[in-house]
Amino acid sequence: VRRTAALIAGAGPAGCAAAIVLARGGIPPLLVERSEGPRDVVCGGFLGWDALAALRRLDIDAQALGAQPITRLRLVTARAHFEAPLPHPAAGLSRRTLDAALQEAATAAGAELLRGRTIRAAEPETRRLRLEDGEEMEGEALLIATGKHELRGAERGIGLADAPLGLRASMAGGRDLAGTIELHLFDGGYSGALLQEDGTANLCLSVSRARLKKAGGVEPLLAALAQELPALGRRLDGGALTPWSAVAGVPYGWRAQGTVPGIFRVGDQAAVIASLAGDGVAIALESGTAAAEALLAGHDASAFQTDFSNRARRPLRVAEALRHAAEHAGPRALLMPVLGLFPGLAPIAARLTRIAG
Ligand SMILES: Cc1cc2nc3c(=O)[nH]c(=O)nc-3n(C[C@H](O)[C@H](O)[C@H](O)COP(=O)(O)OP(=O)(O)OC[C@H]3O[C@@H](n4cnc5c(N)ncnc54)[C@H](O)[C@@H]3O)c2cc1C
Repeated sequence: VRRTAALIAGAGPAGCAAAIVLARGGIPPLLVERSEGPRDVVCGGFLGWDALAALRRLDIDAQALGAQPITRLRLVTARAHFEAPLPHPAAGLSRRTLDAALQEAATAAGAELLRGRTIRAAEPETRRLRLEDGEEMEGEALLIATGKHELRGAERGIGLADAPLGLRASMAGGRDLAGTIELHLFDGGYSGALLQEDGTANLCLSVSRARLKKAGGVEPLLAALAQELPALGRRLDGGALTPWSAVAGVPYGWRAQGTVPGIFRVGDQAAVIASLAGDGVAIALESGTAAAEALLAGHDASAFQTDFSNRARRPLRVAEALRHAAEHAGPRALLMPVLGLFPGLAPIAARLTRIAG
């Protein structure tokens, strides 16, 4: 068994933020990641001002990575269209680029990154990880940062069978999206589009199981949505699309309200915000940073977990209320005229769904 002071399962934004802070604080951690190298992730690629600030604190300049500035929100439904400025500048950046930069910063700070290594199970009592290749590792502290994916032995205890599904593809020719995050709202979900650093559009979609089942699969769902929302149909027809990648079982609104000694849950393992709020990466960076700071200060894991759960309560609740309004025809029909009359509500909602600021 390999032993280390801090062991981190998963090198997404949460695991990397924790690794950077720990390494800089004098506890270089061991980071275990199953992907072999840079890869696309099911994510909208939206970085709010809180995510950009969290990245700056880690000395990562999103603009230098090519992040495209976003200053406006566009909401589109079958019948209406609404646009408003965001309260602060945001940005669009692919997760391929962002995660690679975070991993590079973690190793540059002194963390050891084991790539292409899949964790088969965790043993929380001993803070041990068992890898698929048979190796075992044990940390004085174990940070669980495996994101949407459950880690066997350390499951979050949530029923995921009915949780929504996320989809992502990129599309050639996204220049007309410059400066804007575009959200198309429909029964059971939404689709988001933005311009990313290579000039392509990042398209993502979140859809309830019921809606997907009713449509009979991803392709018939996209065809039905293109009929229902002509603007989304035009967007999907606007250029060559890569194949869609999917992730199942995203438990929006869930927060870890407790933990066991020595186990810190970070990122989607700590709190899962409705993706239409575009704050999951900020939550990942903030929770990873806060867990590492707690560990460096000698605080116990449960104090961190309770504290972070309290911080995440308001953004998660506001995001759930917005998701509910956006996904159901009745509230959605009210939402658009209300926003038309009181456009200042949109930036307020955007602010209330941030983990910081
Ligand atoms: C459709 C959709 C759109 C979204 N759009 C946005 C958006 O625009 N902006 C935003 O801020 N958030 C968005 N989110 C949320 C955001 O993607 C997540 O909140 C964020 O990725 C969480 O980061 P993380 O580090 O916790 O987990 P992840 O990013 O999921 O990283 C987890 C890492 O752990 C690794 N891993 C997992 N299991 C194992 C294992 N067994 N062994 C080894 N390694 C493992 C994975 O390979 C991965 O690298 C969206 C989510 C969805 C579903």
